[in-house]
Amino acid sequence: MTGYSAAASIGHYIDGKHQAATSGREQAVYNPATGEVARQVQLGNAADLDRAVAAARAAFPAWADTPPIRRARHLLRFLELMRQHRDELAAMISAEHGKVFSDAQGEVTRGMDVIEFACGIPQLLKGDYSDQVSTGIDNWTLRQPLGVVAGITPFNFPCMVPCWMFPVAVACGNSFVLKPSERDPSASIRMAELMSEAGFPPGVFNVVQGDKLVVDALLHHADVAALSFVGSTPIAQYIYENAVRQGKRVQALGGAKNHLVVMPDANLEQAADALIGAAYGSAGERCMAISVGVLVGEVADKLIPKLAERAKNLIVREPMHADAEMGPIVTRAALQRIEDYIARGVSEGATLVADGRGLKVKGYEQGFFTGASLFDHVRPEMSIYREEIFGPVLCCVRVPDFAAALQLVNAHEYGNGVACYTSDGNIAREFARRVQTGMVGINVPIPVPMAWQGFGGWKRSLFGDMHVYGEEGVRFYTKQKSVMQRWPASIAKGAEFAMPVAK
Ligand code: NAD
Repeated sequence: MTGYSAAASIGHYIDGKHQAATSGREQAVYNPATGEVARQVQLGNAADLDRAVAAARAAFPAWADTPPIRRARHLLRFLELMRQHRDELAAMISAEHGKVFSDAQGEVTRGMDVIEFACGIPQLLKGDYSDQVSTGIDNWTLRQPLGVVAGITPFNFPCMVPCWMFPVAVACGNSFVLKPSERDPSASIRMAELMSEAGFPPGVFNVVQGDKLVVDALLHHADVAALSFVGSTPIAQYIYENAVRQGKRVQALGGAKNHLVVMPDANLEQAADALIGAAYGSAGERCMAISVGVLVGEVADKLIPKLAERAKNLIVREPMHADAEMGPIVTRAALQRIEDYIARGVSEGATLVADGRGLKVKGYEQGFFTGASLFDHVRPEMSIYREEIFGPVLCCVRVPDFAAALQLVNAHEYGNGVACYTSDGNIAREFARRVQTGMVGINVPIPVPMAWQGFGGWKRSLFGDMHVYGEEGVRFYTKQKSVMQRWPASIAKGAEFAMPVAK
């Protein structure tokens, strides 16, 4: 597989067509492996957003009226096209994000899972029917689409995270405006082309490239009924507070600091593999990455040497290389932030067991690479423990027992994912019940729920009430209507003034 090297400038996709931004603003998109500017992304403004929302609004009535099974058939065609173009999309992702190709393939596949789930929309939109709630009267509920809905997505899953949103939204009969990350915009445009190829009417799915300007225009646009956001916690909170104030429905997923607890009865080889894969996969740039190892009792002295050996031997390479286990960091600024955190951890008194800073990959010396870093003796008051580093840095905290491990996890402000490695069923059960986190893995390091289960964290990892995709996603993108009906033959004569009750 060769790398992706397409369009020099990425614009919008509105009303079934490529459209240029009117702002004249552009931002560089990098190839993080070489450190070179690969292309430009055009940054939209309020006028561009307005065009996209107008197109979505115009498309909505006919699309909402299209029978759900026909909407699902469009999605089936889109699913097939995504399957055919999976490797092309994966190469785009590797080229702009830097994650290794097999990981990018996995990302596209997990996105396709949600499309496949949304293909079952007739079943999911079925309402409830109550026959004879009073003599001659029936009452039922149905779910109807909201109108124009929008998604704002992060750099770390340029294909999968948009797929958490738009397939479910359009299957439910909404039209959609996506504002992808400006750091890796290409996959969004390719998916928009495939949506058109699959037969979706113009305006049902639109992409507007941009930054805060477009996001703020979305927050204040009167014709946008709902916003799904995935990104960092400060922006998630900003989106939530402002969009709710505008009367919009909002789900805003934020950052994370995911812990993996290793109990003394765990299989330590398995736990070591799990920690390494989950901490350094995708260079730690995953919201479900494990960034904290919680080592219980005597585990630490046995596990740290195993982790150190694996971390130091990790294969860090150009992401299209078949052997690569970890690629570069997305931008130079992100690399700098990560390496600054490592310096801070050292000055705060943690023990740096493996130091990935300054790593150079032969032939890619200007790339944004860093190696795997591992800290031992991290304490809860340190910034490297409290804050999301979002890079290949694993912080290990030593605790005496299970109760202390649980207390540590539950005291953290984030509550996205968590895992516990143990061979004791009772510990596993207690952990899953008592932990204050949205997604729990028992001997599973990255428990990203399947497409029909729904994804979401707790605490400051999610603002809003509903998780994305799964049945919660269907609920988010629809509103319930209750209909009560009777026919003239069963209507008694005369006006009724008392509260109606079942007769
Ligand atoms: P980010 O918050 O910087 O950006 C996310 C989106 O918000 C982008 O589309 C961006 O253009 C926009 N944005 C950025 N700054 C803005 C501002 N000031 N005003 C308005 N909009 C703004 O996040 P990122 O760096 O792209 O992604 C990494 C973050 O996303 C991490 O914190 C990670 O944990 C989180 N994340 C969370 C989940 C989850 O499901 N909880 C999934 C993936 C990523």
